[in-house]
Amino acid sequence: MGNKYAVVTFGCQMNIHDAERIRGALDAGGWSECGTEEADAIIFMTCCVRESAEQRFYGRLSSVKPLKEKRGTVIAVGGCLAQKEGLRLMEQAPYVDVVFGTHQYPHIADLLAQTARGRLCSTDLSGVCLSGVPCSRFDDFRAWITITHGCDNFCSYCIVPYVRGGEVSRPMQEVAEEVGAHVTAGVREINLLGQNVNSYRRKEEGRSRFADLLRVLGNRYPDPWIRFTTSHPRDFDSEIMRAIAETGNVCEYVHLPLQAGSDHMLAVMNRGYSRDEYMHKVAELRASVPGVSVTTDLIVGFPGETEEDFAATMEVVERCRFDAAFTFLYNARERTAAAGLPGEIPVKVKQARLQKLMEVTRKMTSESMRSELGTDQTVLVHGPSRKNPRRWSARSRTNKLVHFERGDDDLKGAFARVHITAAGNWSLQGTLREILS
Ligand code: SF4
Repeated sequence: MGNKYAVVTFGCQMNIHDAERIRGALDAGGWSECGTEEADAIIFMTCCVRESAEQRFYGRLSSVKPLKEKRGTVIAVGGCLAQKEGLRLMEQAPYVDVVFGTHQYPHIADLLAQTARGRLCSTDLSGVCLSGVPCSRFDDFRAWITITHGCDNFCSYCIVPYVRGGEVSRPMQEVAEEVGAHVTAGVREINLLGQNVNSYRRKEEGRSRFADLLRVLGNRYPDPWIRFTTSHPRDFDSEIMRAIAETGNVCEYVHLPLQAGSDHMLAVMNRGYSRDEYMHKVAELRASVPGVSVTTDLIVGFPGETEEDFAATMEVVERCRFDAAFTFLYNARERTAAAGLPGEIPVKVKQARLQKLMEVTRKMTSESMRSELGTDQTVLVHGPSRKNPRRWSARSRTNKLVHFERGDDDLKGAFARVHITAAGNWSLQGTLREILS
């Protein structure tokens, strides 16, 4: 086998970061990255949180079969779906050479080498290696850092604890050193990652140290922006809100998944908070962190969801005035507790509810966008806009997408001050006031 690889990634930011770790492990092992057509090995990083992600993956997987036949390309499938399906995936797709689970990433080079002796499936979940793992980043000015891996929450609809294992937190010193190395390398934005960052080190030390981590990083490295994802409303507390407010470079943006707005649905989902607790936290956050942007996730059509339950979700949404919401139709995931629940909601009813919810949340997002009109925003420039390369695409501290005219300067990875002149449903338009650094 040659030593050229391509990675194809599906799913969330955690999967994208896992793909960076796969690239890091292969680059360190003497491999080099290329496109799928020239690759000696194609590695798929899969997602199984939603059925649509699974279907997209299987479609893409079958499209590389001719490469296997023509060039003998090694096909590897890793990530959450690989963990869930294991041998079943190998039976279903006999042209796949190796299936590897979520704890096997540091061993990818070995696993690919072993395919010379035959097909293999490696999905052991005991022990996870998060320390000293090489990582080849997709961006040179933004870095994602895993602070917790896995999850202990077992929300009844969610497959993650089964495919990523229990929650493990990295030591604070180790995280700080990694952030320091990125800052030295010129990174402008640090993104702390975990399924539930708010419970950081609770299992190891008996209390969450997430607020402490924000303060330590902010004090030691005051220049890069700091973001984090994902929060859990049960563990998102006043101390964390104070840390965001008091740490100058922690961005005013919190994604706080509500999922449902009735206490009955929240209990069946095993979310661990009530609607009143959630609304209280959002009000406290808005009071503690002026100008904070709050976004959420919502599931519609969970088993047993009545019209009253749905109305309760609409009510919480109206009261919280989210800056944006990601809305999903419930679909059952095999092996989760909710998969066996009675009270399936007819598709038409689910879709009608989703439509109603989306109308409200869309309106809220465009109101939130319009509230920025006439303001100056500090943004981090990500690169040329994909739709219009004559404009820059950037993000504000509150994570709003901002576009502005490109001039002669290369602003990719720079902070800039932009005056907002127009607001659309999903993005802002502006003019450059000043290049900051
Ligand atoms: S907190 Fe709940 S939804 Fe999030 S990963 Fe853990 S089990 Fe899944």
